[in-house]
Amino acid sequence: MANIDDSAITFQFSGDVQMPHSRKAESEGREFPYLYYPMLAETGLVKHCFTTRLGGVSKGMFESLNLSFSRGDDRKAVEENFRRVALALGTEYGNFVFTDQTHTTNVRRVGREDAGKGLTRERGYSDVDGLVTNEPGLVLSTFYADCVPLYFLDPKHRAIGLSHSGWRGTAGRMGAKTLSAMRQEFHTSPEDVLCAIGPSICQGCYEISEDVAQEFKKEFSAHASEILLEKGNGSYQLDLWRANEIVLLEEGVKQEHLAVTNLCTCCNAKLLFSHRATQGKRGNLGAFLSLERV
Ligand SMILES: [Zn+2]
Repeated sequence: MANIDDSAITFQFSGDVQMPHSRKAESEGREFPYLYYPMLAETGLVKHCFTTRLGGVSKGMFESLNLSFSRGDDRKAVEENFRRVALALGTEYGNFVFTDQTHTTNVRRVGREDAGKGLTRERGYSDVDGLVTNEPGLVLSTFYADCVPLYFLDPKHRAIGLSHSGWRGTAGRMGAKTLSAMRQEFHTSPEDVLCAIGPSICQGCYEISEDVAQEFKKEFSAHASEILLEKGNGSYQLDLWRANEIVLLEEGVKQEHLAVTNLCTCCNAKLLFSHRATQGKRGNLGAFLSLERV
């Protein structure tokens, strides 16, 4: 284990300190810590972040930056939390567009007409775990508490994608489905795309049962030993980070265009919401991605 100490915040990383890096935005005199990928930030083409539990107003098990309206938190508190995310990202409250995450591999193209959906107005769609767009200013918004966020940037066609990939999404190759939607909508070629695999549960924290392991053995037959560690008695430890990396590489994403997290939500449950670490008593973290207006 290695630590990165960003003044008040100390995350536990697996292995050497890598990505994502934390950054503190000063807004309204308060600190608002968030995580980001230098590889994406350095392009100057996008705003993005992955939030932590810090910097919000929610109480109790939602303390403090809960971004879920559907887990029992006070609606006004969650709205204030989103207002703070907007401020830290340098965007407006009405620009967020939400997924409707149900562990599918459905990807939806969204545009200006979808601004605010999920936050300021009804979505009008359901069962959407990934979003793609080429509309500048629109903030693609996905939510987490151990599952894997996948960020996509096609600098050539100025298009982005953001997907939620839990074990079901990973077994269903959500990364490939998102790239395919970007190819169809924006003529994206995977070899141009920058991808980041975001903070989520590590292999050491993620025990799965035999039936789940069987799905991965079937889908990733050539790589089963890289992603599954057999513990005996029908239990396994699953490496979702490596599995998603394999999906993206097999689609043609270049290794040098790929940033893979080593930050585990469950190992850092005081700073990040983790479903496993809290037996489900938790709020949601958010991953956000938006094309800059140029
Ligand atoms: Zn862990």
